[in-house]
Amino acid sequence: MPIAQQMQDMVKGSSMIRKMFEEGLRLRKEFGDDNVFDYSLGNPDVPPPQMVKETLLELINSPDISHGYMPNPGFPHVRQAIADYLNQEYNTRLNTELIVVTVGAAGALNDSLRALLDPGDEILVPSPYFVGYNQYAFVAGGVLKPVKSLPDFHLDLEAIENAVTDKTKVMLINSPNNPTGVVYTAQELKALGEVLERTGAKYGNRIYLISDEPYRKIAYDVDVPSVFDAYPHTIVLTSYSKELSLAGERIGYLAVSPEADDAELVAQAAGVANTMMYVNAPALFQQVIGKLQGVTVDTAIYRRRRDMLCEGLKDAGYEFDIPQGAFYLFPKSPIENDVKFMEVLHKENILAVPGTGFHGPGHFRLSYAIPDKTIENSIAGFKRAIQSI
Ligand code: PLP
Repeated sequence: MPIAQQMQDMVKGSSMIRKMFEEGLRLRKEFGDDNVFDYSLGNPDVPPPQMVKETLLELINSPDISHGYMPNPGFPHVRQAIADYLNQEYNTRLNTELIVVTVGAAGALNDSLRALLDPGDEILVPSPYFVGYNQYAFVAGGVLKPVKSLPDFHLDLEAIENAVTDKTKVMLINSPNNPTGVVYTAQELKALGEVLERTGAKYGNRIYLISDEPYRKIAYDVDVPSVFDAYPHTIVLTSYSKELSLAGERIGYLAVSPEADDAELVAQAAGVANTMMYVNAPALFQQVIGKLQGVTVDTAIYRRRRDMLCEGLKDAGYEFDIPQGAFYLFPKSPIENDVKFMEVLHKENILAVPGTGFHGPGHFRLSYAIPDKTIENSIAGFKRAIQSI
């Protein structure tokens, strides 16, 4: 094998996702766009707000635009705009030194893990969890330790407490959650903070909480509580991939709580990691988002699709909890083997991701970042699939 041994599994994992993508293309070619129901990707199709286009045009025509290098953690005025926005929203005391503008949430995750982990250090993550975490842990040389969530996909605090060891450096959470759509409550976040404080003290370790929040603005009838309030040693990170539908532009940030131990040093290390891996986040879109703090896509579109899909699947006999945020539904697989059930759906030209891929077997994930018409036309296939088994 010409490639590194440690890369072989990673390549296998990513080729599965590529295969699914290619299968979608093949089915579309064979059956036509209208007859393929691709729920597999979380790629937002809701257009970015008009203000994104206006801001871009204004910037491009402005003599003040910069296309050059900047301080690697990002343009100071952009970091200031982010800090001001967060301080206003969450009553924090962030400053530019605690903000790193990143290459999406993925970049922010890579930077944070790099900043905190030595090889072999452990990252606890409630499962099911977003598959990208395997890759970011790998890059940082960390060991990802899934901790099974409760049956309603909220945090199992007892299991988390029992999973902490002297190697635990990071607890990584994601709310609203991909793939489950769950939003953690203020109460459970506070309780999690207490567990991290207590168990960290037991092992003489400072455990940092990394809160991955790219879906924060996509929530339905619930407040997404601030993690800054729950635990001082926190890094909040996010991107504009979902909240502004700018996934391909690769822009996001991380913010280290001013209350965290060694906050400035952690932010500085994350900034150095950012320099090592990407040099800096894309200049043009840094300047765009600097002017668009607090602007969000029309989330009513996702809510409508969620309701349409939930109603259709409930009628068909599927079991699930109604998602409170993000744009994913995570129903129970009608048969135990979720991978097999994906094959049954496939026969109906429905593409979905087995829960096993997220460490959540017995379920499957549907991304409803797809047109209303696709959802509407897929329901009959979902019905036939469940009736056929
Ligand atoms: N975290 C979660 C939970 C995600 O679902 C995603 C992307 O789908 C990411 C991080 C990566 O986001 P980005 O595209 O902003 O890097």
